[in-house]
Amino acid sequence: MRLSRYFLPVLKETPSEAQIVSHRLMLRAGLIKQSAAGIYSWLPMGFKVLRKLENIVHEEQARAGHLAMLMPTIQSADLWRESGRYDAYGEEMLRIKDRGGRDMLFTPTAEELITDIFRAHVSSYKDLPLTMYQIQWKFRDEIRPRFGVMRGREFLMKDGYNFDLTKEDALHAYNRHLVSYLRTYERMGLQAIPMRADSGPIGGDNTHEFLVLAETGESEVFYDSAVTDLTFGDRDIDYASVEDCAAVMEEFTTKYARTDETHDEALFNEVPEERRRTARGIEVGQIFYFGTKYSEAMGATVQGPDGKNTPVHMGSHGIGVSRLLGAIIEASHDDNGIIWPEGVTPFHAGIVNLKQGDAEADAACEALYTSLTALGLEPLYDDRNERAGGKFAGMDLIGLPWRITVGPRGLKNGVVELTSRRTGESEEMPPEEAVKKLAQIYAGIA
Ligand code: ATP
Ligand code: MG
Repeated sequence: MRLSRYFLPVLKETPSEAQIVSHRLMLRAGLIKQSAAGIYSWLPMGFKVLRKLENIVHEEQARAGHLAMLMPTIQSADLWRESGRYDAYGEEMLRIKDRGGRDMLFTPTAEELITDIFRAHVSSYKDLPLTMYQIQWKFRDEIRPRFGVMRGREFLMKDGYNFDLTKEDALHAYNRHLVSYLRTYERMGLQAIPMRADSGPIGGDNTHEFLVLAETGESEVFYDSAVTDLTFGDRDIDYASVEDCAAVMEEFTTKYARTDETHDEALFNEVPEERRRTARGIEVGQIFYFGTKYSEAMGATVQGPDGKNTPVHMGSHGIGVSRLLGAIIEASHDDNGIIWPEGVTPFHAGIVNLKQGDAEADAACEALYTSLTALGLEPLYDDRNERAGGKFAGMDLIGLPWRITVGPRGLKNGVVELTSRRTGESEEMPPEEAVKKLAQIYAGIA
C-alpha cells in the first residue's frame, strides 16, 4: 500500500475524551472513529488488524476441531423467554420491536439460539461431541461505555458452544478451549493468564477468565508470580486427547490466579510472600462449563447409548476480539505510539523514502516494494512529499514492527537502513538483505 493512496486520518492532537493510552493511540493512529457512545467505525487500518485477529481465532478454532458458523444479530425474544433470560438480562439488553409489534433483541450472547439450532437437528449421542462457534457483533447497553473499544456497547466477540453427552466429555471440551485460547493469545503477542472467575448471570460453576495484565485493566487480580513464567510455545498438543488437554489445564490453572470476585485471602497467603502479586487486568476471554442449564430449560436432549433421552452438557467460550485491539496496545506501546506484535501488524514493514522525487531513491523504494510484495508481505510505503521527521513520527505512531529507510546517501554505498520499532535499533544493509531478513522474521507468522 502506498500511503498517498491510503485512508489514514492521523490526528496531531491528543483527543481529550480518551482516558487510556490504547484509546488515545487508536484515535490518533486513525484506526477507529466513534459514531455514538460505545459504537465505532473501523477505519481501514483498524479493520485490517481486526481481521488479523479474527483470522488467528479462526485458525486456532479449526485446529481444535471447532466448526465456524454465523448466527443473526437480531433475535426473537421468544427463545429468551424459554430460558428465562429475557427478564433476567436487564437493561444491558437492547430490546427492539419489529413492525408487527413482535419483541426482538440485539444479541448480547447466543446460548439460546445455538441451543435452538441444536435441538432442531441433533437427536442422537452419535452426533456428539459437537462444538460450533461464530465471530459476530454483540450489543450490550453498558451503563458506562468507555476506554474506546475496550468497553464498547457494540463489540465483536467470538462465541463458541460445546454439546456433549456427559460431564466428562464437556470438561474435555472446556480444557480443549483453554488450550486453544492460550495458543490464540500467544500468537497475538499477548500473555493472557487464565484465572478462576465468577460465573455471573450465565450460570454454572466452572469458569476461567483470561486476563492480560495492564495498569488500566478494569479487574483487580491476585496471582502467584510463577504463572507469568508459563508459556505455551510451540508444543504439539493433540486436541482430541483428553490427557494432553488436561495436562495443559493442570499446568496453567493450579497455581493461584483469581479475579477479585473469587479471591480467597487465606488461600492466597499460602503462596510464598515474594511471589504474591496484586495487579490489574483486562479480561480478553472467558470459558464456561454450565452443564444442562440451557439444555434442560429448552429441551435439548439426545438419545444416549442406553436408548434413554438425556439433556446435553454444554459450555460457552468467548473471546473479546475487538477488545483485544485495545489490550494489545495497552501491553505494547511506548511514548511515540503503538508497537504491533508481528503476528497482528496491519502491514509487515514501512518503507520511508527520505527524498521523494530523487530518481534513485524512488526506484530503490519501488524495487523494495515489489520484492516484499512478491514474497507475500505487505509493505506500507510512505511516498508522500513530506519531511523525514514527519514520516518517522508517523511510522512510530502507527507502530509497524519494521521500517526500511531509503535515502540517496545510503544508496551511494549500496545500503538502506532496517529499524526495529520495538528496540529502535537500526542496521545498514543492501536492500536485498533487508528483504531477506524480513522474509525470515515473518516466516511462519505472516
Ligand atoms: P466484562 O466483565 O468485561 O463486562 P463479561 O464477562 O460480561 O465482560 P463475557 O460475557 O465473558 O463478558 O464475554 C466474552 C468476552 O467479550 C469478554 O471476555 C470480553 O473480552 C468481551 N467483552 C465483554 N463485554 C465487552 C464490551 N462491553 N466491550 C468489548 N468487549 C467486551
Ligand atoms: Mg466474562
